[in-house]
Amino acid sequence: MSACIFCKIAGGEVASQFVHEDEEVVAFKDLNPIAPTHLLVVPRKHIARVADATQEDERLLGRLQLVVAEVAKKAGLTDFRVVTNNGKGAGQSVDHLHYHVISGRRMNWPPG
Ligand code: 5GP
Ligand code: ZN
Repeated sequence: MSACIFCKIAGGEVASQFVHEDEEVVAFKDLNPIAPTHLLVVPRKHIARVADATQEDERLLGRLQLVVAEVAKKAGLTDFRVVTNNGKGAGQSVDHLHYHVISGRRMNWPPG
């Protein structure tokens, strides 16, 4: 049994409402949203961070971005930001690869 919260969510061990679910990828609302829309797109496979992805994950990484586009479309988003934090110093708090999809307020650039 994994101690990883996103493995538990993706595996159904922690009940969640998915906005997207397929064999390889799930998406759900962030527990602590930082914008009116804040979704997380997560591979079922445990990869700690994007820097840990390997050649074997090439197709899955592409799939994740297509799911980002799908969930954004489903939510009616045109302008949105896609973010993955890699490492504590970059703001990563959950060590399981995920893409934040954030929308519904003005986004600043460069990000803080
Ligand atoms: P990170 O800080 O690693 O880039 O992003 C982790 C995100 O996961 C945070 O935005 C945090 O609010 C969210 N999060 C942490 N635990 C849970 C949880 O149990 N359920 C959901 N839905 N989101 C979570
Ligand atoms: Zn995990």
